[in-house]
Amino acid sequence: MRGDAPAPATLDRVRRHLVGLRMPRALEVLDHVVRQLERGEIGTLEAIDALLAEELTLREGRRIKAALQMARLGAVKTLSSFDFSFQPSLDRSRILALAQLDFVGRHEVVHLLGPPGTGKSHLAIALGVEAVRAGHSVYFASLADIVASLARAEREGSLRERIRFLCRASLLIVDEIGYLPITPGNGNLFFQLVNARYERGAMILTSNRGFAEWGEVFGDAVVATALLDRLLHHAVVVRIEGSSYRPRQHVGLVPDTLRSPPAAVTPMPPRRRGRPPKARPAEQIAS
Ligand code: ADP
Ligand code: MG
Repeated sequence: MRGDAPAPATLDRVRRHLVGLRMPRALEVLDHVVRQLERGEIGTLEAIDALLAEELTLREGRRIKAALQMARLGAVKTLSSFDFSFQPSLDRSRILALAQLDFVGRHEVVHLLGPPGTGKSHLAIALGVEAVRAGHSVYFASLADIVASLARAEREGSLRERIRFLCRASLLIVDEIGYLPITPGNGNLFFQLVNARYERGAMILTSNRGFAEWGEVFGDAVVATALLDRLLHHAVVVRIEGSSYRPRQHVGLVPDTLRSPPAAVTPMPPRRRGRPPKARPAEQIAS
């Protein structure tokens, strides 16, 4: 059965609505969807669904892109590009359970421990990407960078603001604990941050050193004990006991495409780059 062609005036009104509602992608695919409707390939509800799904996909893609930039995750790593068969000591189902992100809502701490090159940063970033996709705010930094930023803030009299900033993300990822020793005295700054986030926000920590070595890492046994007291209270500890992935050749670790395929029968026209289309003068809403 073929659908009826909509009256040109109605179609114009729909275009103006889409412009007014700032729905550039729906506007872009409108003619295509209307043609599908006229040919009887899709029903009215499916047409509405296709327009809304296209617009939502565009918005989600933009939101995720902006949130990934804010999170400073660097090179995007995903769980699907992680080769679990290379790391048999690692329980895949445990990582996939963490990717459900219940620990974020419960304000827990996930420790990823293991020698260099075993995928700790990869997994931390991949969990961060999952959290961003799920709508959580994420911030990623190395311990050295976090401590340096706290020390700078303290010198400038803005330590409270800096700690408040680092408490804003619902998931804070602190990478590379143990690679560089912390200047004695600065471990206390990190403790202040951890204490401020304690039971209020989730964290992922990666380290190549065991907890027994934290006194050495932070240059202060008292600070290390106080840190571990908070960081092991509601905690998940994942140990990786394998060899480094780095010496292997690894090509083709292509991140997942963020965009799902469109819901219509025939493919939608490609998305235009750049600014959203402007309404032609005749399409502008009369005031
Ligand atoms: P770590 O933080 O433990 O030192 P990384 O996560 O930085 O190690 O891993 C080193 C490199 O090897 C990264 O490019 C990472 O993406 C890759 N890599 C590590 N383990 C795996 C794995 N099991 N599957 C795929 N890539 C991996
Ligand atoms: Mg690392």
